[in-house]
Amino acid sequence: MDEADVEGDLVTTLYTEEQIQERLASLAADIERDYEGQDLLMVGVLRGAVMVMADLARHFRRHVEMDWMAISSYGSGTKSSGVVRILKDLDTDITNRHVLVVEDIIDTGLTLSWLVSNLSSRGPASVHICTLLRKPEAQRMSVDVRYVGYDIPNEFVVGYGLDYAERYRNLRSIATLAPHVYS
Ligand code: 5GP
Repeated sequence: MDEADVEGDLVTTLYTEEQIQERLASLAADIERDYEGQDLLMVGVLRGAVMVMADLARHFRRHVEMDWMAISSYGSGTKSSGVVRILKDLDTDITNRHVLVVEDIIDTGLTLSWLVSNLSSRGPASVHICTLLRKPEAQRMSVDVRYVGYDIPNEFVVGYGLDYAERYRNLRSIATLAPHVYS
């Protein structure tokens, strides 16, 4: 879906499809360099990270394993609840594995700090985080985010995997949502 298909619902384009791909290619190059000679398991957080994972993985020129977790975060509102629940766990045993958590966006970081401590308790060789977008509040959190696509302002955004009430995930770009859509 392109912006023209939902024009009245969006205010500002943050990143076009081309910009997103360029940034992911550069992140993939950094990750490849850092994990050279190590085997890597990427853990995507459903459902928002589907697009990031699919495109990031395809920028690699090496093998990479992928697994998925689903945890509850926002429901259909626009505020973080802080309540985290595993809806779908990993199928992979991560003992002694190098794990890279792939996220679409980090806002308060509540979901992520919980996830990192949960994964760390399973005896992995390492756990690092890659997120396409990061909001200002997340920069103050204690969890270290190793790879960040873009730092964005504190606005509600949709597209490229990010939804509002399960819509706009299939938008090719990332854009801010007009308040009339959610108010
Ligand atoms: P956190 O626990 O970091 O506050 O929330 C993380 C989750 O909240 C993300 O995985 C995402 O599902 C949701 N979220 C946070 N900010 C936004 C936003 O601007 N747009 C959308 N669509 N979801 C968001």
